[in-house]
Amino acid sequence: MRLRDKVALITGAGSGIGRATAERFAAEGARLVLADVRPEAAQATAEAVRAAGGQAVVVGGDVASPADAARFVATAIETYGRLDVLGNIAGINVRKSVETTELEEWQHVIGVNLTGVFLCTKYAVAPMKRQGGGRIVNIASISGMIGFGYPAYCASKGGVIALTRQLAAELAPFGITVNAIAPGVVETPMNRPMLEASPPIREAVRRATPIGRLGRPEEIAAVVTFLASDDASFVTGHVLVADGGLTSAVALGE
Ligand code: NAD
Repeated sequence: MRLRDKVALITGAGSGIGRATAERFAAEGARLVLADVRPEAAQATAEAVRAAGGQAVVVGGDVASPADAARFVATAIETYGRLDVLGNIAGINVRKSVETTELEEWQHVIGVNLTGVFLCTKYAVAPMKRQGGGRIVNIASISGMIGFGYPAYCASKGGVIALTRQLAAELAPFGITVNAIAPGVVETPMNRPMLEASPPIREAVRRATPIGRLGRPEEIAAVVTFLASDDASFVTGHVLVADGGLTSAVALGE
């Protein structure tokens, strides 16, 4: 078990990559705090974790709210007495062009995807410093590296990558590593409606992906687990691309 006795806070734990990460972390021996703006969804994840023999508590709230982010961290300390791993996974998308994106929508996406990472990290650092170290894993996206998607989303994920690199330098002296993952297109509730509504988009993504299919949440959870584990002790400030090859080659089709 790669996370035996570690305490992990996972945001966005109610769905998709966050839920898959919670289930994998629990299987690797971690004790969990599952945070989500939809507590009923995080509760369902907690029930699945407990049914498999794991430990999890649920805390509802918005990563973009300072009070809620502080409460997520406080729940870990009150429940388990420590915090070893922060998985910043909560995220949203607004599928609109630059002309049609309203300012409020822009601010919402930046607020959840970027400010949320800042806030949860801000409060997680003190207990990690006291313990002599920790692991922070941020879910960015290939949309933070290339133009792929929508302006607010791409900007927020590019921000997560820049923040990850700076925090790696700032927190390394305290034994805290900070890394990011840039997934390609993964089948989750975030993008399932779009993929189901448009078979041509799904087919275009499949063709553009050298591995020839979309990703599965469990495949990203496996990468989060590596970066959260002792095996990644000399890895920090890294952006690990998990995209089936989408950004490494121009797929010309069959
Ligand atoms: P998802 O919609 O299945 O799950 C996201 C979870 O985050 C949901 O449970 C939701 O309730 C929660 N959440 C949303 N806003 C929140 C907030 N303000 N505070 C707390 N929780 C909140 O999405 P997913 O596809 O699993 O995405 C997880 C992460 O992976 C996101 O950061 C997303 O941007 C990123 N990502 C996804 C893909 C993909 O193709 N699915 C690709 C690259 C990156």
